[in-house]
Order: sequence, then structure tokens, then C-alpha cells
Amino acid sequence: MTDVISLRREFRKIPETGLHNNKTATLIGEILTSQGISWRKSAQTSGIIADIPGDRPEAIVFRADTDALDIPDLIDKPWKSIHQGKCHACGHDGHTAMLLAAAGDINSRRNELKKSVRLIFQPGEEGHGGAAIMTREGAVSQEKSSIIPEEIFGLHLWTYEKSGVVFLSQGPVFAATCGFEITIRGSSVHAAKRHEVSDPLEAACALVTILHQRIKEASTASKPLLFHAGTISGGFGHNVVAEKIIIRGTLRSSDNLAHDEIIKQTDTFISGFLERRDLAGEFRVFQKYGAVINDEKVTSRLHLASTLAGAQVNKCDFQMIGEDFSFYTDVIPGAFALIGAGFEGGKPHHSPTFDFDENVLHLGVEIWKNLAFSVV
Ligand SMILES: [Zn+2]
Repeated sequence: MTDVISLRREFRKIPETGLHNNKTATLIGEILTSQGISWRKSAQTSGIIADIPGDRPEAIVFRADTDALDIPDLIDKPWKSIHQGKCHACGHDGHTAMLLAAAGDINSRRNELKKSVRLIFQPGEEGHGGAAIMTREGAVSQEKSSIIPEEIFGLHLWTYEKSGVVFLSQGPVFAATCGFEITIRGSSVHAAKRHEVSDPLEAACALVTILHQRIKEASTASKPLLFHAGTISGGFGHNVVAEKIIIRGTLRSSDNLAHDEIIKQTDTFISGFLERRDLAGEFRVFQKYGAVINDEKVTSRLHLASTLAGAQVNKCDFQMIGEDFSFYTDVIPGAFALIGAGFEGGKPHHSPTFDFDENVLHLGVEIWKNLAFSVV
């Protein structure tokens, strides 16, 4: 038996970011091997796929993300990060530990499995689209094995809510998101001659205000939209008209259609705006994630697995967060739940003193086991 809490502490100590969480993957591989589970590595990332064959080739897929964030770890605990400037500030150490602990138990009783179980340990969830790469490599397709992935499940620890409560709903749960970059180009002159040119910085400030207002007005309770400018940069000096300004931010929508539409409208608006001001520039989107939409049937199974594990299950309000889990659900139906993991005095996700209630990890392990043995 692998103790989920000590495992989680091991992972918290070695946070890695991006698509290559190599130390983390090495540890995952060692543990899977010691559990007698065969696994293979993703070709383009440090991701790991492990199959536990059941009676039938049809498989349910469990996904854990393994990556951390580029922020310092400032907790005062023995499991604090030993990697400078890196921190498991979103709880993915817990996700990895829960799935590994469940894996050992599932494999030791694999003769009781009706369907096969596939485990995905995926890096690069935090803005690197690790799921997109692993999906392209066949993580949820039949391609490279005799396993036939049918449904996918994801769990995320969530410290904004009381420990032990599961938050789950069918339909859209997380936003369709993208990053954007607006470049505005003009000509650089002395501030004394600014009346002779169009000022990209002044245009950028106006543009941010207008877009913010427009998108706020277009947003409704049932179809929320969000525009956020996070950085604005450019310019040479205090007395010079900036030649080039770059605005970076994020656009978020309740569903993929609305998202494509708001991207298109924003692009058209920016072109007209710049043209009227005699400025050049462009609008570019990156890191486009689809909305996470929970399938009805798969959601009801996850609901049952959570109840059997003794959890109270509450409705999950739609969140304006992005999750690359949507790349998997573009291929097979899936369901994603949040597990309340908050404690008195705890700090929010992505903060350097983030931590969660470790006791809730046992609940996650039970949910995974219930999905494998009792529900599907
Ligand atoms: Zn996260």
C-alpha cells in the first residue's frame, strides 16, 4: 500500500513546470513499476500512460496533472519545495499522489475489474496544453494498444471549498479560454511633436477600456464572457511617443461557439479601431482551450463514485478557469469534479503559501477505486 499523504509530500518537494516534469515522472515510473504496473512515456512530454487490463479492452481513463508553477514556495513545512522559484501551488502534487495510491490498490485487485483502466499522468496543464499533446499522441485513442478508451475522469483539489465536499455538475463547468496579444504600431517622435502622429500608448489605454466595457456589456448570467488585460508594455522613454505597444491578456467564454464568436468580434473591432486612428497592428490568440463540458452519463457515474466514498456532492458553479482536460473530452466523453480541500487559514490556489487539507486525499483515492470497481 502506498501512503497517499507521504507520496504527496514527496511530490510537493520536487515541483517542476511545463511539459517536462522529469524528476516527477521518474518517481511516478518507479512507483508504478514497484506496483507491478507497466507504463510508457509520452514521446514529446514527460507524461506517462499506464494501463491496468481488466476483463474487457474497453477502458475508463483517469487523468492526473503533474506540473507546478513558477512561484516560490513559502510554506513552513518539511515538505516545502527544494526547487527554487517553483511551487506546487495548485495541488497537482495531490492529484498525482491520489492517482498513484489508487493505482496500486486497483492493480492488486485487477482480476475483479470488468473494464480496463488507463492512467494518464500529464504535465503542462498550467498554460502549456500538455493534454493537447498527449491527446495527439493517442492518450485517449485506441491507436497504440489493445485498450479502447471510452470515458475520462478528472479530479481537482479545490481549497475555496470545505474539505471533503465534492463539486460536480453536468454541462459546462470550466470556461473556453485563450491568451491574446494585441500589437499596436505607430511612429516614434519627440513628445513635443506628438500632435503630428497617432500615439500607440494612448490608443492602447483607450482600447483596453473600450474592450473591457464592450465585453462586460455582452456578458450575461447564462453566457458569461470575460476580458482581462494583464500586461501592457512598450515605449522608449518618458518624453518619446512609443513606437510599439503590446497588450497581453485573456479572453474567456462559457462555451466554444461563444468563444470563437467573441474572438472574431474582438479581432474585427480592433482592426477598425486601429484603422480609424491611423495605426497598424494585429490581434493574435494563443493557448486556446475549449470549455470543459461534463457528459451527463459520465457525470452520474462520478457522482455515484463520490457518494459511495462518503462524500457530500454539491452542484459545481461554472468557473471562469481554463482546464486543458477539454482536449480529452473533445475525443471521448468525460466528467471533471472539484474536491473541496480548504482548511482554516489556508491560502488560495497559485499563492506561494498555498497548501490543502491532506486528509482529503483519501477521499480522492476512494473515488478512483469506486470508479474502477463499483460504478462502471
Ligand atoms: Zn490546477
